[in-house]
Amino acid sequence: MAAIENLIIIGGGPAGLTAALYASRGNLNPLVIEGKSQEAGGQLMWTTAVENYPGFESVMGPDLIGKLRAHAEKFGARFVTEDILSVDLKKRPFTLKTESGSYKAKSIIISTGAKARMLGLKSETAFMGRGVSTCATCDAAFFKDKEVAVVGGGDSAIEESLTLTRFATKVYIIHRRDQLKASKIMQDRAFKNKKIEFIWNSLVEDILDLSQKRVTGLKLKDQNGKVTEKKIDGVFVAIGHIPNTDLFKGQIELDEKGYIVTKGVKTSVPGVFAAGDVQDPFYKQAITSAGSGCMAALEVEKFLEE
Ligand code: NDP
Repeated sequence: MAAIENLIIIGGGPAGLTAALYASRGNLNPLVIEGKSQEAGGQLMWTTAVENYPGFESVMGPDLIGKLRAHAEKFGARFVTEDILSVDLKKRPFTLKTESGSYKAKSIIISTGAKARMLGLKSETAFMGRGVSTCATCDAAFFKDKEVAVVGGGDSAIEESLTLTRFATKVYIIHRRDQLKASKIMQDRAFKNKKIEFIWNSLVEDILDLSQKRVTGLKLKDQNGKVTEKKIDGVFVAIGHIPNTDLFKGQIELDEKGYIVTKGVKTSVPGVFAAGDVQDPFYKQAITSAGSGCMAALEVEKFLEE
């Protein structure tokens, strides 16, 4: 029989790691389960410079995660790297099943984050990793001296585009409206960059050309229904995120977009708390994730005392 843990934290991004730090300092001896099929550490592992984490003027995403993890470990947090296959949150202690066995816990913090939303085109799936990407940091160098497109109008789209301008000769930002959602400072950087050109009010209808087995261009449709083709060598999709909550469907309350519904950090199940992007469709910042991870650990302390 598995030992009953005080607290299992699912996910090792800024929310989970901050929860682990606070819970270990609170003597709860927390166990963090980091997934192995997605990069442990979450989305920051795919980011270059983070310039908005207070106290760090500029820090690389993976370095920040490394520091947060080391900090939590220093105070006794334990880590295992395994994918959770199923959870039973209907009776206490809660049960988590993995490939190697099962874990039991008196309380749980869910901090499984979110993943990139995709356009949903057959060609997009076919060309994924071969001309289609969701991570300029990872793949921009493959497009040295080429022309690329970025789809989206938020901060991510601009950030991806700016990264790409260091390699590509031209970056087209394709946005479905005539106004960006990105913050003013990011907009200004994009408008000033001579390599970036905007294609407004346009949807990507298809990524060409499956018959040639390589990305050669985009089929675009504007607001009047006019279809055009744009020659490019690669596409970066940056149209937002989907919370990683499949495991919890039917177990706790989720909203219509799949985010965990929380009051503060409390979920619909007493003893189960959620922190970070998995419960936050609005702010999605490393620092707000970390903040909610701290809140969740403090709530667990209170819950276990009661
Ligand atoms: P956002 O949700 O902010 O933006 C998504 C963009 O994609 C929107 O412009 C949206 O259009 C568009 N979009 C959504 N679905 C589709 C679709 N099916 N087809 C075409 N376009 C679509 O996501 P981001 O990932 O950009 O940002 C998430 C959060 O992370 C934000 O809070 C952002 O501020 C933050 N962030 C901050 C950074 C920084 O500070 N350096 C860097 C990156 C992200 P529409 O505008 O019409 O809704």
